[in-house]
Amino acid sequence: MKKTNVRAAIRSVTVPPLLAALVASAHAAAAPSPETAFVNGYVYTVDAKNSVAEGVSVRDGKIITVGNNATVRASVGPHAKVIDLHGRMLMPGLVDGHMHPLDGGLLLLFCSLQYRALTEAELVTRVTACRNDPSIPRPGGWLIVNAWFQEAMLPKGTVLTRATLDRIDPVHPIVLHSSFGHSALLNTAALKAAGIDATTKAPEGGEIHHDASGQPTGLLEDSAMDYVVKAEPPPDEAAYLQAAQAALAALRAQGVTSFLDAMAREQDFHAFTAAQKKGVLTARAHLAPLITPTMGSDAKGATDYAIRMRQLYDQGPIVQSPSVTIRNVKLFMDGVISAPALTGIVSEPYRVNKGTAARPDWEPGTSFGPTPYFPHAVLTPLLEELVKAGFDPHMHADGDGAVHIALHAVEQVRSALPGSDFRPALAHDEMVIASDLPRFAQLEAIPVLSFQWEKRAPDTTGATEDALGPIRVAAMEPAYALEKAGARIAYGSDWPVDLLNEWFALKVGVTRENDPEAGAQYRGPLGSQPPLSRASALRAITMNSSYELRQENTTGSIEPGKLADLIVLDRNVMTIPAQEISHTKVLLTMVGGDIVWSTGEVAPVTHGPGLRTSGAGSGAL
Ligand SMILES: [Zn+2]
Repeated sequence: MKKTNVRAAIRSVTVPPLLAALVASAHAAAAPSPETAFVNGYVYTVDAKNSVAEGVSVRDGKIITVGNNATVRASVGPHAKVIDLHGRMLMPGLVDGHMHPLDGGLLLLFCSLQYRALTEAELVTRVTACRNDPSIPRPGGWLIVNAWFQEAMLPKGTVLTRATLDRIDPVHPIVLHSSFGHSALLNTAALKAAGIDATTKAPEGGEIHHDASGQPTGLLEDSAMDYVVKAEPPPDEAAYLQAAQAALAALRAQGVTSFLDAMAREQDFHAFTAAQKKGVLTARAHLAPLITPTMGSDAKGATDYAIRMRQLYDQGPIVQSPSVTIRNVKLFMDGVISAPALTGIVSEPYRVNKGTAARPDWEPGTSFGPTPYFPHAVLTPLLEELVKAGFDPHMHADGDGAVHIALHAVEQVRSALPGSDFRPALAHDEMVIASDLPRFAQLEAIPVLSFQWEKRAPDTTGATEDALGPIRVAAMEPAYALEKAGARIAYGSDWPVDLLNEWFALKVGVTRENDPEAGAQYRGPLGSQPPLSRASALRAITMNSSYELRQENTTGSIEPGKLADLIVLDRNVMTIPAQEISHTKVLLTMVGGDIVWSTGEVAPVTHGPGLRTSGAGSGAL
């Protein structure tokens, strides 16, 4: 469904330059002070009291008045465009505080396994179909396959090796990227191209799997994937820009008006800057340069790199039209706690089966996950240097051991730099030691949670459950416990780790349940924690994520003086049965007063960058 919209949006971008220029100048001449009034709505404001109003008026990209219909109508002139919402819900645009939009965009262009639970035979069929599809880009002859749901392979416990991929193509390189982004599977040709043989050592923070004879199986974890990244012929600039535009189209259709690119590399900086220059950036783009473990030991050097990226790409304070901001830096504390990866750092060891397959006996093993990607001695001085240079560290911390390491460093930096207003974020936090829960509030550390993981699914049950044990599984995904302990919870979809569906994520966030279609084994809530309330979940994905990105004074709520970043929904997510929230459609997305996405049911697209269409756009002039 999203793909159709993306393609439609991409098609609509192609407007002859002259016409586009005419549209722009006509707009400027006819309406120097554009005004829009939304009336007869359920305007969910996310102000301090979560007030509900009937309408909102917008002028020059900003919110002017929020209130009842009469007040809102009175706040605009006779030429204002008045949009009757017919009772529909209007709310702040979504702020996604952790995602990988360029990878998401590429996924829309390249071969994708669609995050499906597949048998080996089904996977072979799909990858073969991709190999035979001439429309799929094959840079340098490589077949790059994304969205491989490694944890959901069927039957349970299936572990693939290069042999499977060699059957599909013994000559050209094939690489499967796991949807979690922490593993890759290569065929023999790809291993060769990446220069990996029996003697190759995995770099710090990574693993190269070997078979009994010592040969690489083709499976690489975490930093060992650098070998693939280096060998895989990258898409060119044009493909990256195309991917950025595909991502932006998907985001505006979902109602996302600001996002954090939580692992920006050169191509991310280039692509989103190019999109901005081209006038097609339809969401406020925050890009976090990645500091790798290797860079981390040189705190000054790593900080200088981030400063250089800021000098090159940051476009200054947030203004009406979307721009590129470099304020956050990204660091990985660990991998993921899900089996078979088990690369999350945990405070108690992963369990291992000391019995047999038929009569399992799960006992604590010896592995606490990998050695810390950033040991204490490295992390604290690094964070301190980054904070002094004005950056907000955004740390991937999945296991409770990694969360503990990150909080410890934040604590050290807080006491070393009293009065500093840095806003550290800890992304994912799938497990948190009970005594660490209140430390988020005490240290003003922001948990950035991926709500859609808070459900029973292949990655939270089965082998993961076995490795963690029932006590830890019961306490997994501690959104409620964090909120109760006073934490300011923000939200990040982590797209494309999962399909981009913010509304499914919200549904899971307020139910902790999967969709019924997922199957009987995934029915019922995950663990024993209650879900967040709808008000809390909506605040997380609007105001609190705005706070994370230092935009809380300009976005995140429908209040006078703020930028008009807002969305209109086809249903009222505060009142419908919770299970239906996942089916929510965004009818209109407005960014800085521009309608950048519209299904046409509420109002036509006006002059949203990149979305001018010959027919639909004319109504706004
Ligand atoms: Zn991520």
